[in-house]
Amino acid sequence: MKPVFIADPVNGPFDDPSLYVRILRESRALLFDAGDIRRLETGSILKISDIFITHTHMDHFIGFDSILRAVLRRDEPLRIFGPENIISCVEGKLRGYSWNLIKEYPVRIEVIEIKTDSVEHAGFYAENSFCRIDGRSGRFDEIILDEPLLRVKALHVKHEIPVLAYSLEEEFHININKDMLQEMGLPVGPWLSEMKKAIRLQAPPDTVIEVDGVPRRMEELAPLTTITRGEKITYVMDVSPDEENIRKIIPFVAGSDVLFCEGYFLSRDADRAMERSHLTAALAGRIAREARVGRLELMHFSPKYRHCADDLYREAEGEFRGEVTCAAADTCN
Ligand SMILES: [Zn+2]
Ligand SMILES: [Zn+2]
Repeated sequence: MKPVFIADPVNGPFDDPSLYVRILRESRALLFDAGDIRRLETGSILKISDIFITHTHMDHFIGFDSILRAVLRRDEPLRIFGPENIISCVEGKLRGYSWNLIKEYPVRIEVIEIKTDSVEHAGFYAENSFCRIDGRSGRFDEIILDEPLLRVKALHVKHEIPVLAYSLEEEFHININKDMLQEMGLPVGPWLSEMKKAIRLQAPPDTVIEVDGVPRRMEELAPLTTITRGEKITYVMDVSPDEENIRKIIPFVAGSDVLFCEGYFLSRDADRAMERSHLTAALAGRIAREARVGRLELMHFSPKYRHCADDLYREAEGEFRGEVTCAAADTCN
């Protein structure tokens, strides 16, 4: 299956967590958490349409200013999703600057606050000097973004403060049968993307797609495609290592192609993990195993393990594969 989502952590595991997800063949990207994003080029930042913040501890939100700086003159709006209090946090950031000279700028920031039972909206627009405009509120029902290509879901977890875990799912995957393409004597080209878009929008069978200048009906082209399960990527950061959280996370991330998960402490420091409300690498591995994810990408390590990061990977991998592990061996003190 050719992936649609190209997901890459912006930084190494000892720097702030942020996951940049490029959407293939669309000039668009999503960002999960906005920690230090200085490694992202302006061109990459400009592609970000939606930001999903797990919580506003500084290491997950300090990048907001860099993003705002880059998108100030952008026509497309920027959406920010986050847990309880995100609207006030964005408002607080915006109030830290003077905005008397931006009334001509087009940028519009829409903030979506995901509370336990409700979803609140607020807008901050350059034309209004980013004064807060409260919008509608609705009921929270897990899906926070629903488009023909993708869907984003949120899960409430605890880290002393409310935190959201996110899942990004492709609604379904459209595969092109290359042999059939050859058999029908059709060339590879941009029309394939156009056809995929039409399928996602449930266009009627008599919809016409131009193939190298020749009009073809969708129903004629149908034998070229097969539909399979869509891709799923999940993102879990800064979660108290208690059983209640873990029991909620496992079904939420179940069947992910890739789970991006914090592995902040070694299990030998489980007491510290509980005190600081972070998962251990072993717990990340256990979640990945029980949820039967395809791949576990460990992120966000405590700086105390700088000289023994391999132990964290080993511990997580051992749990993931169901092996007995002694990853917490005394290489790290
Ligand atoms: Zn945190
Ligand atoms: Zn953190």
